[in-house]
Amino acid sequence: MTTAADVVFVDGEVHTLTEPDREAEAVAVRDGRVLRVADTYEIEFLAGVDTTRIDLDGRVLLPGFVDAHVHMQQLGQYQVHADLGAATDLEDALDRLQAAARDDRDWILGFGFDESTWPEDRFPTRADLDRVSEDRPVAAIRVDMHSASLNTVALDRLEGAMPDSDVEIADGDSAADTETGQPTGVVYEAAAEALWAAIEPDRAETRTLLEAAIDYAHSHGVTAVHDMVRESHAPRVYREMDVAGQLPLRVRLNYWSDHLDALGELGLRSDAGGEFLQVGAVKTYTDGSFGSRTAKVSTPYADDPEADGTWVVDPEELATIVDRATEQGFQVAVHAIGDVAVGTALETLAAAPGDRHRIEHAELATDEHIEHFADAGIVASVQPNFLKWAGEGGLYDRRLGDERRTGSNRYARFLEAGVPLAFGSDCMPMDPLFGVHQTVNAPVEAQRLSVTEALRAYTAGGAYAGHDEHRMGTIESGKLADFVVLESSPWEQPGAIDEIEVALTVVDGKIVYDGRTE
Ligand SMILES: [Zn+2]
Repeated sequence: MTTAADVVFVDGEVHTLTEPDREAEAVAVRDGRVLRVADTYEIEFLAGVDTTRIDLDGRVLLPGFVDAHVHMQQLGQYQVHADLGAATDLEDALDRLQAAARDDRDWILGFGFDESTWPEDRFPTRADLDRVSEDRPVAAIRVDMHSASLNTVALDRLEGAMPDSDVEIADGDSAADTETGQPTGVVYEAAAEALWAAIEPDRAETRTLLEAAIDYAHSHGVTAVHDMVRESHAPRVYREMDVAGQLPLRVRLNYWSDHLDALGELGLRSDAGGEFLQVGAVKTYTDGSFGSRTAKVSTPYADDPEADGTWVVDPEELATIVDRATEQGFQVAVHAIGDVAVGTALETLAAAPGDRHRIEHAELATDEHIEHFADAGIVASVQPNFLKWAGEGGLYDRRLGDERRTGSNRYARFLEAGVPLAFGSDCMPMDPLFGVHQTVNAPVEAQRLSVTEALRAYTAGGAYAGHDEHRMGTIESGKLADFVVLESSPWEQPGAIDEIEVALTVVDGKIVYDGRTE
């Protein structure tokens, strides 16, 4: 007689997402681990008097989603401040900012706008934001976080902290409501970073933000994240939560390269940590983004022949960072979006010691690049939700033209070549089912994955990228009891995966989100 299970999930449609995918009806869990995957009647044998029995009523149970690229603190800011990602147009964004004003807060903040989805198709200007407030600082931060719009009070307050070169000046034909020679309110890169510094939350607020973000993750079926952290209280707050047994999410911290000295002094290295909190990679940049036309491309932008991107971290500096990080025992994660940046990141990482280095985004990768990924065993840490920009007339089309639009984010090619694929959301938005929907229904064949392949990239793929495949990413005996339960089957409605509701999210065998209506 074996010891009874703590909890059994029965009468469902369980997909293990192993290779090949195995289907079963039920799972038994003990001590936060999977005890057995089998038919309901077999699992019932493992239930004792104290066992919790959860009837899945035919729902679909999968391994919990591993979101391999997130910004939890910023995600919390979306929840706590104005969520501009949900704004349908510029006016709606301004209304949301107005509604987010609180007497106990100085700044009026909104996060995540994407002007390319608005009929106006332009950034908010200083004049727009002055309508929200003329006496308090107002800032709207773009979805890529490389640019933002400020009102007059905010511009005045940050004057001196923002380099002139990254502050847009009205040239007479743009932003008609700004006097020529005056700032339009739009700021980029280093100027946007000065804004980040000015609105940085303290420790107590950081905890509020992270808790809001964790709740949001659970409500979308996410049980593990790779969080990109930089100059924030987040690592310390996570540790406090973990030590107190109050961290109901698996968090792998990818530290910005600014922290290399500190990481070295403390003797930290990748994979150090416990059941819930781990040290991950050292993260650095190469280029910017397509939205801001700062991603490094070999052929200039279709809608600005003068622009071919900028280095945020140039190739020489990148090589130095990668040397130092790998010498200290770190996995490295390099942000690279344009084809020039992807090529540079590949060359640098392929020559570095250590394994499973990662390139974040890799939106414009050539066939040669994809082969190079495979040969060097570099993980493509990519965001299928970005395919929402890949349609005709979408952001990729306007910035890059048709050939590069259809040549972007070719996940099927990556898989064919044998490249380890890890899906993440970059919180744009955090919603794995939305991402899976995008790639299953992508505009061109080379971007399209099957439902099973896409779900694997959002589970086992992220686990592999985090050196975690021995404990998460599939449902097998001995692995962590981290699951998501869906109201309906993505295999049965591949054209409407984004409409599927999350019924339950389970971490360590415990229900952390219950969205069941009945
Ligand atoms: Zn990111």
